[in-house]
Formats: sequence, C-alpha cells, structure tokens
Amino acid sequence: MTRLCVSIFVEAVEQALAQAAVAAERGAEMLEFRIDRFTDDPDALERLIEKSPLPCIVTCRPTWEGGEYEGDEQQRIALLERLGLKQPAYIDLELAAFEKSANLRQKIKLVVDHPRQVRPTGTGLILSAHDFNDRPPDLTGRFNAIAEQPAARVIKLAWRARSLRDNLEAFELLLSRAKPSIMLCMGEFGLPSRVLAKKYGALLTFVGMDDATVTAPGQVGIETIKQHYRWDAIGETTKVYGVIGWPVGHSLSPHIHNAGFDACGVDGVYLPMPIPDDYVHFKATVGAWLDFQPLDFYGASVTIPHKQNLLRFVAERGGQLEPLAEAIGAANTLTVRDGSLIASNTDCLAALDAVCHAMGIGRTEAAGLNVTVIGAGGAARAVAAGFAAHGAHVTIYNRTAAKARRMAEQFNPRFSGRVTAAPLGDLPGSSCDVCINCTSLGMHPHVDGCPLQAIPSAWGEQTVVFDTIYNPMKTRLMRMAHEAGCITVSGVEMFIRQAAEQFEQWTGQPAPVEVFRAIVSRRLERRD
Ligand code: NAP
Repeated sequence: MTRLCVSIFVEAVEQALAQAAVAAERGAEMLEFRIDRFTDDPDALERLIEKSPLPCIVTCRPTWEGGEYEGDEQQRIALLERLGLKQPAYIDLELAAFEKSANLRQKIKLVVDHPRQVRPTGTGLILSAHDFNDRPPDLTGRFNAIAEQPAARVIKLAWRARSLRDNLEAFELLLSRAKPSIMLCMGEFGLPSRVLAKKYGALLTFVGMDDATVTAPGQVGIETIKQHYRWDAIGETTKVYGVIGWPVGHSLSPHIHNAGFDACGVDGVYLPMPIPDDYVHFKATVGAWLDFQPLDFYGASVTIPHKQNLLRFVAERGGQLEPLAEAIGAANTLTVRDGSLIASNTDCLAALDAVCHAMGIGRTEAAGLNVTVIGAGGAARAVAAGFAAHGAHVTIYNRTAAKARRMAEQFNPRFSGRVTAAPLGDLPGSSCDVCINCTSLGMHPHVDGCPLQAIPSAWGEQTVVFDTIYNPMKTRLMRMAHEAGCITVSGVEMFIRQAAEQFEQWTGQPAPVEVFRAIVSRRLERRD
C-alpha cells in the first residue's frame, strides 16, 4: 500500500507533535520528521519518535544534498544512530554519504534492519539521492547502486523533471520492483509522479500539511491530493486523463473532471499537463505518454496554445479527425478508443447548445438564425462553425478585418449556413438574433473591457447575447445586455457543455453536469 507521508520540519518537539496530530487527522499514514534545524536536543527527538502518532521517517538532510543541516557529519551520524535505537519506521540517509564512509556504514548498519542484523530492529534504511536542478545523468546508476546495498530497504530518488516525460522514467523504475521505492519528480512537471505513485506501488508519496507548507518544489498538500486528485480511488488500473496547455495551472478542468469521475465512479484521474509552446514539445510528450502502456493514458482536454498541434499530431499518427474539428482547424479533445486516436472539437457544439437551450429550441432550429460573431480567433472559429454547420447565417466582425474575411472565405463553401465578414465599425448599427463575443475583451483581470460601447438599439428582448468568457461569470457585456432587456448566456454554459461532451467521449457515460456546474460556480465566485 502506498502511503501518504506528510513531511514536518521540526522546530520544537511539541509543535511538531501538534502538526503530526493534524496530519494524522487529515489522513496521513506516515510522517517524515525533518530534523535538519533541530539537532541539539537528542532527548527531545527521542520523545518525538516515541510519541509520534504514525510510523515515522527521521531525516537530517545536509546542505550538500539540498537540506538545511550545516553541522558536523560525525555528529549527524551519531544522532541518527541514537535515534535509530528508538525504532522509527525508517531512517533516511543519502547514498553519497553512505558510499563515502565505511565507518558511517558500519554505524548505521548497527541500528537498521538488514540480512546480517543480529539484534531485532524495526527500523528500515531509506537510501536516497536528490537532484534539485536536473535529471541526473546517472539516474539508473544511482538506482542500481542503492538496490545493490543489502542494508537499504528502500530506494529513494528525487530529481527535477525537465518535462512531463521524466515522470515515465519514475514509473518505469517503480515497475522494476527491485525494492520498495520512492521515485519523485520535482518542479512543475513532476505532479504525475506524486499523484500516480500509488498506481505503480511506490512505498509512499510526500505531501505537505497544506498547499502552502510543502517541503519540496511541486509537492501538494494532503487535502489537495486526497480530495482533488482522488488519491483514495487510485489503483493499478486507474486511467489517466489531463488538460494540456501552457500555462495550465489556472485551469478549472481538473476540478470538474476529477469530481465527475468521483460522482460517476469512474476509475480515472485527471491531471494538469503543462507542455511548452511548440509542436516539438507537444509531439514528444504526448507521443511518449501514449506509448507508455502502463500509464493507461486515455485522453486529454487541449487548450491554448496546442489546439492546432493536436490536429496535426493525430493526423500524423494516422488517427481520426472529426470533420468539424478539421474544418475549424483546431481540436480541444484527444480520445484514445480501442487503440486509435480521435481529435475532436467539443467547443463547437457546446456553444450552439448553450444558445439553443437559452432560446428553448433544438439544434435543427438554429437554421436561419442571424448570428453575429465578434472575433476571429480559435473560439470564434469553433462557435461560427457550429452555427454555420446547422444552417445559421453567421456574420463575423473582427479587429483585424482580413482575418474575418479569410475565415468567411474558408467556411462559406464548407457549411450549409452562409458565413460573411463585416467591418467592425458596422457592429453598433447591426441587428441579429444572437450575438456572441469571442474576443478576450472583458476577461479577468481586465473586467472593464467590452467589445461594444453600448448595446445596439435594434437588439431587444428576443436577442440573445452570449459571452464565451467564463471568468468572470458575468462580464460587462452581459450586464449591459441584461439592462437592455436581452437574453444573456454565460461562457460558463459553454465551458460546462464542452467538458461534459469530453467526459462522455472518454467514459461512455453521461456527465454529471450539475456537479460540474456547482464546482465551476463555487470556484469562480471565489475568484471574483
Ligand atoms: P484568440 O485565438 O487569441 O482570439 C482572440 C480574439 O480576440 C481575436 O479575434 C482578437 O482580434 C480579439 N481581440 C483580442 N484583443 C482585442 C482587443 N483589444 N480589441 C478587439 N479585439 C480583440 O483567443 P480564443 O482562443 O479565440 O479565445 C477568445 C475568448 O474565448 C477567450 O476570452 C476565452 O475565455 C473564450 N473561450 C471560452 C471557452 C468556453 O468554454 N467558454 C472556450 C474557449 C475560449 P485580432 O484577430 O484582431 O487579434
């Protein structure tokens, strides 16, 4: 069983014990006491081990291995030797220190359990190696060196991941099952190694008491891993999904999809997948994740700047491109089904459905609607294509007029609805059944932005004004439209529907839309 281990920096024993009690209450199954800064009172440390509410690891990490202990090495080892007699579950020691000194090896071997130990002890030795800057070139060498030490019960390697691909190496090492192991990638790319440690049977994963008090870069708090990343539900067969973007840390998608998996009992977990902005990175990372069979990587949401890259990638791998996604020139959903890749665009019909729902009509009744689209970027292409494919007449207004004209020329021959471009200056005097803002004007944090100075006089009670922006939930455009008596639709509706369609494509089950809606509202209200 992979344990959740909360790391506690010891400043005072009573304080550490109080923190330990809170950690246990929050669901920790093991504790690591980092005594780097608290080495002068061995009696107090003995008490700490005795009173620990959970099995514990004792670590005194020197500065040369990224810790804070600056004192004498002999004293450090003497302290660990003494504390080892109190039988913590583990003592953690650096491979470099262990290899360097026969005297140290001898002392540590006296207190830890190993094949030649004569006195019974419950303390195991974790031999560890860390690289806070990079993936060490001798990673496998370090792994083997620890595996070959009879005194080492546990292999621990931690390094800074250079990309999401480094996590796969951590999983491969765990799967080799040489010994109980802890394989962790640090930094922004390393989250999968921490959350999926359980899928590969790691001894433990380290977590902070909360997100703010973590002890290593990329670590998350215990509540985040349990509630947000479904720790308790993760097992060997858990399927992996994610949201690919750059940056991607702000995305609401992990919140809703993980909650959706919970609500529907899906054996899956959904992770943020940061991939730097270019096709080379996208192809290398997504390709490696797909090719690593034990990952069970079954799909992803894809956002800025990778929506075009997804189409290209799936085409190059001989997968299937949904015709609407191909026409739009961008896809936001990757699905792996029966070993084949599918690229689709769920933004498109999500926007159409959000508007149709507000109007109380079905998709087929969109034929003949006059739809104004403001913007000619990725969202505008998806929104316009959805309406045009269902027979609506779409007029595109954009700051860069040439882009609007190009889009009309591309779309017009492809869809049953007519697509035209018009000068942005004509917008205030225009009339329409539906107006959709597909620019970023009004988006957080520039909430005063608005694509219109005033609502055109021709718009009235029957006009639907839909803002694709969902943060904030009520944009300035929507407030103005509401005051003018128009029907307003929030980008939240589109966001929820595009996510619901992804959920259905991946799981074959209807999405728990109300769960999605509640989470999005709660999180956006908190941000507002
Ligand atoms: P994009 O490809 O970068 O396009 C941005 C569009 O906004 C372009 O047409 C651009 O005009 C226009 N624009 C930007 N700044 C402007 C300004 N100051 N004045 C006038 N026009 C301006 O971005 P996108 O991916 O289409 O995203 C656009 C919006 O859609 C975002 O706000 C996003 O929140 C929203 N969205 C919502 C959902 C959802 O699920 N609700 C999904 C996707 C996107 P130029 O061509 O002249 O540069």
